[in-house]
Amino acid sequence: MKPENIYIVSNRLPVTIMRTESGFTVTQSNGGLATALGSVFQQQNSYWIGWPGIIVDNEEEEQLVKELLEPLRCIPVFLSQQEFDGYYNGFSNAILWPLFHYHPGHCIFNEEYWLAYRNVNSKFGSVVSAHVPQDAFLWIHDYQLMLLPFYIKHSNLSYFHHIHFPSQEVFGIIPWRSDLLDALLKCRHIVFQTEKDRVNFKDACLKYASKAHPDLFNTHSPLGIKVSAHPISIDAFDFSQTVQKEVVQKMTQEIHQIFANQRIILSVDRLDYSKGILERLEAFRLLLKDFPQYREKLVLLMLVVPSRSDVPSYEEHKRKVDELVGNINSEYASLGWRPVHYYYQQVNRDTLCAYYAASDVCLVTSLRDGLNLVSKEYVACRTNNNGVLILSEMAGAAEELTYALKIHPYDFKQMVVAMVYALEMEKSEENARMTALKKKVFGYTVFDWLDTIFQEVFCMYDELKYSF
Ligand code: UDP
Repeated sequence: MKPENIYIVSNRLPVTIMRTESGFTVTQSNGGLATALGSVFQQQNSYWIGWPGIIVDNEEEEQLVKELLEPLRCIPVFLSQQEFDGYYNGFSNAILWPLFHYHPGHCIFNEEYWLAYRNVNSKFGSVVSAHVPQDAFLWIHDYQLMLLPFYIKHSNLSYFHHIHFPSQEVFGIIPWRSDLLDALLKCRHIVFQTEKDRVNFKDACLKYASKAHPDLFNTHSPLGIKVSAHPISIDAFDFSQTVQKEVVQKMTQEIHQIFANQRIILSVDRLDYSKGILERLEAFRLLLKDFPQYREKLVLLMLVVPSRSDVPSYEEHKRKVDELVGNINSEYASLGWRPVHYYYQQVNRDTLCAYYAASDVCLVTSLRDGLNLVSKEYVACRTNNNGVLILSEMAGAAEELTYALKIHPYDFKQMVVAMVYALEMEKSEENARMTALKKKVFGYTVFDWLDTIFQEVFCMYDELKYSF
């Protein structure tokens, strides 16, 4: 069941516009959000509003881009370089992101960023007001657009928060905390990834929202807001089918040949301090030191996707990762063996699935993570029910994936113990754990997640005559 007329609003459109010698071209974005919402978006009467991924120079170019996007049911919000820097690199990724992931030291509380965030959210609001009929279902996504509800008059607003929501004390560090909450509370339906996020949000509202009243979260009251927790998921069947493609199987074989007689621990993430990349490397270094029997028989294969390189703390973080990888390799490498294989690049879905399929262990060390899709994707790709998932207890996915080996990402010794345990695990335990994990991942896919959300919307807005 789906609402008939859906407008998705997110920072980025599911496609990216690029400049060519003869004008512009459109390519598919392969971000998590675009993939997750792809099935909803493919239906008629669904539209997507967001930044098209390019700064245009004048109104003529705006018109060209609009015309390219129109048949794809995408509506662009154009931003100047200055607006983008302040709103995205500044407020979103140098204030909200670090604070929501408990890294206040990375925050730059610059008033200019706040002004840019307000201005850009209001720009999104103008585009929404110009294009979205009053009775449409408007679904706002993520922390870049927390203020947007303030700038629109629609009453049927739902918001999905993809990242962690911090405890109220940490949230309270933001000078503009009340404005953000007051705006979000204009939605009638707010969804988080985990129960912990939901509770933190409610606590923050009771403390800082200026409109907090006893009936705020009472859905039987006309002013009540439904706040729930539904972790996003993946199209698990698509991943398991991808692994079985001939070209992917060939790549998997090649990876096995390249690393013949070596076990593979895999990690996949954006280059982000919240992913615990440095901590993972330190733990791996400790393993090589304390368990010399693994030298020349084990590799850490790190796929690291470039991310937010315009934000100063990311640039600095990359330097530290590069340096630490170099140090570990220079300390432990031998003529025919390099312990850390570090690829700083984006790979396509087929290649990614081949790495998932070829690895003995997948190691997720997030210091804090809204969910972590990689953990679910690894499980979906294990077609033979083998492989071990080591998962940080700080990742939202840890609430669901209880049969993973759990680690505390700041406890290096515990991480070493988990890696050794994973590498030496009895086949029967490995199969039992992976079977249980697969039951979870295949039992609640992204389509089930969408159904749950729409079911909730249906119950809330029943009286508004949505056609389901
Ligand atoms: N991913 C990708 N290309 C790569 C590596 C990763 O498209 O080269 C995808 C991966 O499949 C996953 C997403 O990036 O869907 C990462 O999502 P996750 O929730 O783990 O972390 P996020 O980046 O959203 O914080």
